[in-house]
Amino acid sequence: MRKFKTESKKLLDLMINSIYTNREIFLRELISNASDAIDKLHFASLTDSSIKLSPEDMAITVSFDADARTITVSDNGIGMDADALEKNLGTIAHSDSQEFKQTNAEAQGDDVDIIGQFGVGFYSGFMVAKQVKVITRAYGSDETNCWSSDGIEGYTIKACDQRDTHGTDVILTLKDDVEGKDGEEGDDYSRFLSEWALRDLITRYSNYVRHPVQMEVSKTRTIEPPEDAPEDAKPEYESYTELETINSMTPIWKKRSADVSDEDYNEFYKSTFHDFEDPARTVSFHAEGTLSYDALLFVPGRAPFDLYSKDYQKGLALYSSGVLIQEKCADLLPDYYNFVRGVVDSADVSLNISRETLQQDRQLMAIARRVERKIHSELVAMRDNEREAYEKVFENFGRGLKYGIYSSYGVKASELSDLLLFWSAREERMVTLAEYAAALKDGQDTIYYACGDDRERVSRLPQVKSALELGYDVLLCTQDVDEFTIQAMRGYHVDAVEGEGDDARDELDLTFQNVSSADFDLASDDEKEAATKAAEDNKALLDAMGKALDGKVGSVTVAAHLSDAVATVSASGPISLEMERVLSQDPAAADNLPKSERVLELNANHPVFAKLAEAQAAGDTERVDLYASVLYDQALMASGLPVDDPIAFANNITKLM
Ligand code: ADP
Ligand code: MG
Repeated sequence: MRKFKTESKKLLDLMINSIYTNREIFLRELISNASDAIDKLHFASLTDSSIKLSPEDMAITVSFDADARTITVSDNGIGMDADALEKNLGTIAHSDSQEFKQTNAEAQGDDVDIIGQFGVGFYSGFMVAKQVKVITRAYGSDETNCWSSDGIEGYTIKACDQRDTHGTDVILTLKDDVEGKDGEEGDDYSRFLSEWALRDLITRYSNYVRHPVQMEVSKTRTIEPPEDAPEDAKPEYESYTELETINSMTPIWKKRSADVSDEDYNEFYKSTFHDFEDPARTVSFHAEGTLSYDALLFVPGRAPFDLYSKDYQKGLALYSSGVLIQEKCADLLPDYYNFVRGVVDSADVSLNISRETLQQDRQLMAIARRVERKIHSELVAMRDNEREAYEKVFENFGRGLKYGIYSSYGVKASELSDLLLFWSAREERMVTLAEYAAALKDGQDTIYYACGDDRERVSRLPQVKSALELGYDVLLCTQDVDEFTIQAMRGYHVDAVEGEGDDARDELDLTFQNVSSADFDLASDDEKEAATKAAEDNKALLDAMGKALDGKVGSVTVAAHLSDAVATVSASGPISLEMERVLSQDPAAADNLPKSERVLELNANHPVFAKLAEAQAAGDTERVDLYASVLYDQALMASGLPVDDPIAFANNITKLM
């Protein structure tokens, strides 16, 4: 027996126990080596005309024997002679493939796409196997050799006669299962010994390896009934096996989009990302040069059920030379585009030896930036050209975009704000902020919005009605995150537009205003004057009402313009009523809830106001108090806010009747 060199022994131990986090990748590594072996033979044939290959016969086969507990990966590639066996499999971390790639790339000035580069993948077999046997014959040799090892002490190399053509069989004898105890999980190696499990591993990790990966698969078929069988005879079935190519080989993302049909993209999306609906948008792009890669992205047609849960993992699948490196590479997507699914394939990203982690992320960051820009421009294109489809996308994923603005403290606002849609109270449809800005009233420099949990109810707020009456549009916001997003945006910048008459527009910085804030005020100067006068004339009444509502409102005032409503509550200060409502839904915040400072605004033109003034003049404090309570509660309800004491409210109404 030849012993592994000391360093190798340590390394091997490290390999088997620490480098890989995931045992099941052993098959990926063996298939990658087999694929490299076929490629090497192919490259050799390019310069050596004595090598006659029939490309259609080049294949990798995977088989298993449940009784013997073996899994075999075979190829008809270049094979190894005794020296190569010694050199390649006797030394850990020696990658002949890496050398091959370099010398050939120099010789042919061509890109040689070989997967191997670290010289450790082969040994990952020892994570699951107690013995690994390699039976191999080099191309053009008539000698077969067998390398065998337990992965601990050393290995043997012997001549043998188990192969009569070029190529390699790698035979793993799986370790014994270990039962879990004391609640610890055991080790189940037997799970790999099934057609289903192997097929799953092949399609997951090696689906896009460029050579066919084949397996004998069991099937059933109906037996032709004999001529004289009765009409109603039950059909009979028989099982048989058939060699089937398991992997799909051609990575669809490497093709130019002009060569792929929409159906093919949709099928790929649905089968790869387990969705039953077609994607809303498919984006394919390719980069060449110092960093080359292919990317295929999809905007799903619906939101996955767990999109807004903690368990949701964003990310794109990352491949290198057709081999899956990471199923969800999170670094490739910003949080606000977490809904995008897809694939990035680059032979240029530097991989860690386990392939599961990336070594240095400069290249990855460059790809991520491009991906982000691409998603943005695609969404913009959709917004402008396929409005209906975009509105659906926004319905599904808009919350995430808004959250992106909020959680970046507005840093992302300039990029994301133009992707937002809000419900326009005037137009009764979703509009962008640019569309709102294009329909400003003369002299308007504010975007008005109103919040609540129900659009219908928000649209009936007195302030919304009065804004509309006066010719201002109001955006109706019904998502929790809306007001936080709007505050984070701070303002909205409109670029100057050149043109004639109405088309021309100066550059403009718009601010946002919640119509439920106390300083919201669209009234005319006359109305304001009238309101101030009414407030002065009724100072005693307002004070009395303020006292009656002590602790609930900061003040009671006369509103300048309130349409036909009798009273409304608004908030002064930084915390709006909507924010208070949203925050109050978080049980963790309940103890320390920031409160808005409420103001009760009265409509001095409403007949009820005259009644109030009458009661005040008659010195009927009881009646003034009662009116104050009822008006306040009523205004709260109209704003979608809870009434403090519904029973007291009901009693008060009864008293009035
Ligand atoms: P890498 O693939 O990164 O080079 P591995 O540990 O997977 O490292 O394999 C080590 C070397 O063993 C390879 O570079 C290759 O020369 C050789 N080898 C492994 N498997 C095969 C095979 N099926 N056919 C021919 N050579 C192989
Ligand atoms: Mg390898």
